[in-house]
Amino acid sequence: MKIVMSTVKLYENDSYIKTFDAVVLSCEEKEDKYLITLDKTAFFPEGGGQYADKGILADANVLDVQIKDNIIYHLTDKPLNIGDTVTGKIDWDTRFSRMQNHTGEHIVSGVIHNLYGYNNVGFHMNDHFITLDVDGPLNEQDIAKIELEVNKVIYANKKINVIYPSADELSNYDYRSKLDITENVRLVEIEEVDLCACCAPHVAFTGEVGIVKIISFIPYKKGTRIEMVAGLLAFQDYSMLHNINKQTMNLLCTKREETFSMTQKIHKDLGDIKAENKKMSSELALLKMEKTSIGNGVCAFIDNGTYDELRFCSNSLIKEYEYCCVFSKTENAGFIYVVASEDKNIKDIVLFLNSTFNGRGGGKDFYAQGTVNATKEEIVNKLLERASL
Ligand SMILES: [Zn+2]
Repeated sequence: MKIVMSTVKLYENDSYIKTFDAVVLSCEEKEDKYLITLDKTAFFPEGGGQYADKGILADANVLDVQIKDNIIYHLTDKPLNIGDTVTGKIDWDTRFSRMQNHTGEHIVSGVIHNLYGYNNVGFHMNDHFITLDVDGPLNEQDIAKIELEVNKVIYANKKINVIYPSADELSNYDYRSKLDITENVRLVEIEEVDLCACCAPHVAFTGEVGIVKIISFIPYKKGTRIEMVAGLLAFQDYSMLHNINKQTMNLLCTKREETFSMTQKIHKDLGDIKAENKKMSSELALLKMEKTSIGNGVCAFIDNGTYDELRFCSNSLIKEYEYCCVFSKTENAGFIYVVASEDKNIKDIVLFLNSTFNGRGGGKDFYAQGTVNATKEEIVNKLLERASL
């Protein structure tokens, strides 16, 4: 077997290669899959926050691509013959979307660096959005300014160059993402905007990024974490939000720019209706209440009441009686209760209810709530019995 020293990375000098021919140098079985090395490849291996390209090699699917010691390994679902020349085809739609987003991220990081002097300290790209972390705080106005500046860079259609400075030349460059190494450093330059060490494929002109939209930002480790989308992902995000707005607009019979103000109004109206409904159901409970006098106090029952309704009824009853015990049947066997008074300590009544009817609950000197297990008759009779002692 020929020993592979390194794989020629076709994507480094031409990120637009979609198909290529290469010679199979090795093919090794690995857990029902195959690890294949080629003399050259246009498949970008996972690295620098970006996923590996997918695609096909001859008739095998490329499931993953990794790089180790400058050798690129293609994980496939079929074996290939060593020595054969095979055609590789990368999944271009996915790759181009990633190029748009990766270049978009460089523009955002470059603009933030130029405007605020912050550094990019974290980067991750999935197939839905990009997350990037910078080491300084940003507010709403800053984000709006950054977004506008970034999109102006896109419309200016600036050229993107790849530079391989020698170790001596490297010291003349002021670039982001400085690495410890000085050999084989690959710099990606966005003319007049950014210079950054990066191994990934980029678009040739900023215009191809299309648009950048920052979808969220939060404080993160003394800096800021930004989520953004560019290019096709930004278009898909716009389409998704547009559809949501269109459906909301139709539902609320309002104009496209007024869905929020209309939703805000409906939200307020709903709150008012809920409060009115609560007040009315409490008043209705008070009207339908069944009362029995217990000495200077009163015992009352309402149907399907909540604690709020029991409290409402008790507030009314304690104006007339020394104390009140108000009950409402629960779905299970038993009642919820409120015991209240304006100036009589009701703790002994609560203790009596809980101990007599296997109840639970408590509260303060003049107000308590809880549950008991008993019938209406048992409750009335025991309270009458207690009052007559
Ligand atoms: Zn990069």
